[in-house]
Amino acid sequence: MIVFDTSLVIDGVKVHGKKGETILEVARRYGINIPTLCYVENLSNYGACRLCVVEIRKGLRNPFLTASCTYEIQDNLVVNTKSERVVKARKMLAELLVASAPNVKIAQDIAARCGIKQVRFKMEDNRCILCGICVRMCHEQMGGKALGLVGRGIDRKIRMPFDKRPKECLLCRGCEFVCLGIEIPCQGIKIPGELCGRCLRMDEMPYCCPLGSFGCSCEHNPLASDSRLRNSRK
Ligand code: SF4
Ligand code: SF4
Repeated sequence: MIVFDTSLVIDGVKVHGKKGETILEVARRYGINIPTLCYVENLSNYGACRLCVVEIRKGLRNPFLTASCTYEIQDNLVVNTKSERVVKARKMLAELLVASAPNVKIAQDIAARCGIKQVRFKMEDNRCILCGICVRMCHEQMGGKALGLVGRGIDRKIRMPFDKRPKECLLCRGCEFVCLGIEIPCQGIKIPGELCGRCLRMDEMPYCCPLGSFGCSCEHNPLASDSRLRNSRK
């Protein structure tokens, strides 16, 4: 039997959890949404992206920000998942993420959800967002131990030892299956240096989907298969 032995308050709601659980796990159980990037259920908590930031009030201490995926619950914690400070911090993290990887779909999506239209930082073109999910998948689920994070700061990278496939690699492709950088980004027309978002300004675009993206059923999409939907738009 599960014993919920710890009580805390999240966004004004009294919630219960068991010792060892994180704020994120308890919040999710209660349907309280905290955005995440590097968190994956059944993999260890890494706390790298910090997008799951929350504000905590604990006793007489000043409120502080922390990553909810690594912070274990305690009695009488007061947690705020969307205070002004949290929203500002999350927006800054999203801006840094999309500046580092503007052509990675999840970075685009997170920036859009945080309402970012322009980026103040130097844009790079990294395809890996260093979420570390592939490494944890390899080590913890596939039993491969063939990938690791090396270097610091801007030199941090995912690598195999000596850049060669070791015998420990099982060729299972688990790392590829979970990689967040692999998803095809938005193919909409972009002005150089501008974030994607022109789909919000359809009147400026000659076509709404220049490459005919999957799932779109409009008359411009050569891949659209649902003619009923297509006809209903005419
Ligand atoms: S393919 Fe190799 S590196 Fe990738 S998860 Fe499997 S064992 Fe690890
Ligand atoms: S290779 Fe993919 S899964 Fe691994 S850290 Fe980079 S983006 Fe994340």
